Amino acid sequence: MKKVLITGAAGFLGSHLCDRFIKEGYYVIGMDNLITGDLKNIEHLFKLKTFEFYHHDVTKFVHVPGKLDYILHFASPASPIDYLKIPIQTLKVGALGTHNLLGLAIEKNARILIASTSEIYGDPLVHPQNEDYYGNVSTIGPRGVYDEAKRFMESITMAYHRFHGLETRIVRIFNTYGPRMRLNDGRVIPAFIGQALRGEDLTVFGDGSQTRSFCYVDDQVEGIYRLLMSDYTEPINIGNPEEITIRDFAEEIIKLTGTNQKIIYKPLPVDDPLQRQPDITRAKEILGWEPKIDRVEGMQKVYEYFKNLSEEELDKKEHREFTSHNIR
Ligand code: UDP
Repeated sequence: MKKVLITGAAGFLGSHLCDRFIKEGYYVIGMDNLITGDLKNIEHLFKLKTFEFYHHDVTKFVHVPGKLDYILHFASPASPIDYLKIPIQTLKVGALGTHNLLGLAIEKNARILIASTSEIYGDPLVHPQNEDYYGNVSTIGPRGVYDEAKRFMESITMAYHRFHGLETRIVRIFNTYGPRMRLNDGRVIPAFIGQALRGEDLTVFGDGSQTRSFCYVDDQVEGIYRLLMSDYTEPINIGNPEEITIRDFAEEIIKLTGTNQKIIYKPLPVDDPLQRQPDITRAKEILGWEPKIDRVEGMQKVYEYFKNLSEEELDKKEHREFTSHNIR
């Protein structure tokens, strides 16, 4: 039986990857320090004999007994509000955590896939973003802790590939959504749906003319799976190129949820990218991958998920008050 280690297993993407690898017949070791992850995302796996969980922080030395075939490094805070709240951990997990896992991959002779991000393009001056674009990133801004950690992550991964001959894969993940996103993590989809469900106005940052392109989680997981199984070592964008302004997106959510609330405008966060859309030519050519689920279908699914959360969950204030630290 093939064995895979997934870090960030209790998080949004990590937990969906655990499900996918279990479905494919793998033995899955999930690892998470639970700073931003939640065990309820993987509790359905605990009864399986082919799943085990390590409560561990990957910025500390990582030990896993026995063989490992694959490592997927998905541990990281991944929302702008989290970067503000836990900036040092964000830097450490991308830098020190990646270093530890690359060492483990060498020790086990395992193939490793690391989760990079569209954030490495910063506020892009090239549109749509293809993998050859070097990016436009502020080293010292509030998002720098994430962007630069992920850029370092790519560099050290390529160095291990070139210097040690390690089998490495790099996915650049664009905005992805689906069930198990944290309702109060501050990201736009849970923020808007949460506001609609609580009967609050929808908060659009800036004038809402900034764009994003949203990929449904099942499509994202399929792209990642195909990349891991390919023999391609350069980075590949995985995302849905269907682009929309945040203002139009807020209108769509008002329609979807049937809320009577209106849009209110708040200041744009520092370094908030003004446009983002993946060029997925490489994913199409190399992996034969493209997204299958459009925004209407995907948003309906994620709305159903959030609608079924408890009142208590819906009301958690954890992050909702945090944005004022971050305004331009
Ligand atoms: N955004 C917004 N209102 C919110 C939360 C986010 O207008 O309540 C905007 C945010 O300024 C950004 C976009 O939505 O332009 C996507 O933000 P998110 O935090 O989801 O992720 P990002 O793509 O910026 O990493």
